[in-house]
Amino acid sequence: MAHQVPEDGTLLPLMEEFYTIQGEGYNTGKAAYFIRLGGCDVGCHWCDVKESWDAELHPLTAADTIVKNAMHHPSKAVVITGGEPLIYNLDYLTGQLQQNGIRTFIETSGAYPLSGHWDWICLSPKKFKSPMQQVADKANELKVIIFNKSDFAFAEHHAQLVGPDCKLYLQPEWSKHKEITPLIVDYVMANPKWEISLQTHKYLNIP
Ligand code: SF4
Repeated sequence: MAHQVPEDGTLLPLMEEFYTIQGEGYNTGKAAYFIRLGGCDVGCHWCDVKESWDAELHPLTAADTIVKNAMHHPSKAVVITGGEPLIYNLDYLTGQLQQNGIRTFIETSGAYPLSGHWDWICLSPKKFKSPMQQVADKANELKVIIFNKSDFAFAEHHAQLVGPDCKLYLQPEWSKHKEITPLIVDYVMANPKWEISLQTHKYLNIP
């Protein structure tokens, strides 16, 4: 039977939650509680969390329970990811987290309208579903995954959509990182408005 996810965001399909180190992007190296919501229809062929796509595989969980779980850890920061977390209304979850002194970071493709109260928005646009301009306007960080050479042009296109203070990152797609990383190194040296983001958690062998 299909999930009936309430529109008020008090119940959310939770795939997994775990305490670890943010491995990539601006907040690299910071301890954070990861909240991975199920459900994504963006369809990236290199997606490394395809198990997240079908929201119905992941139990509807009270946002209040997720907040309580997050509060058990020393770091007062969460990363909400997916799947594509903005499929859901995140106003309630993030409001409760912030009221409890927890900073809220999101990783999103930007394909759905922005909801929630955020301390940091990482926009990682995907080719198969363009990001909404309202998400690009609010992004603190643009992180573009580089899978092949044409992705540099894709990255430059999206750099035009974000605000002037948005941090710009290029990140090698993991399965091709040995081949792609040298291209990113050359690109960033020639175009220093960009910085390199590496999936350090994969090198560290942590989740
Ligand atoms: Fe996977 Fe993220 Fe792409 Fe969805 S947007 S298919 S979760 S990489």
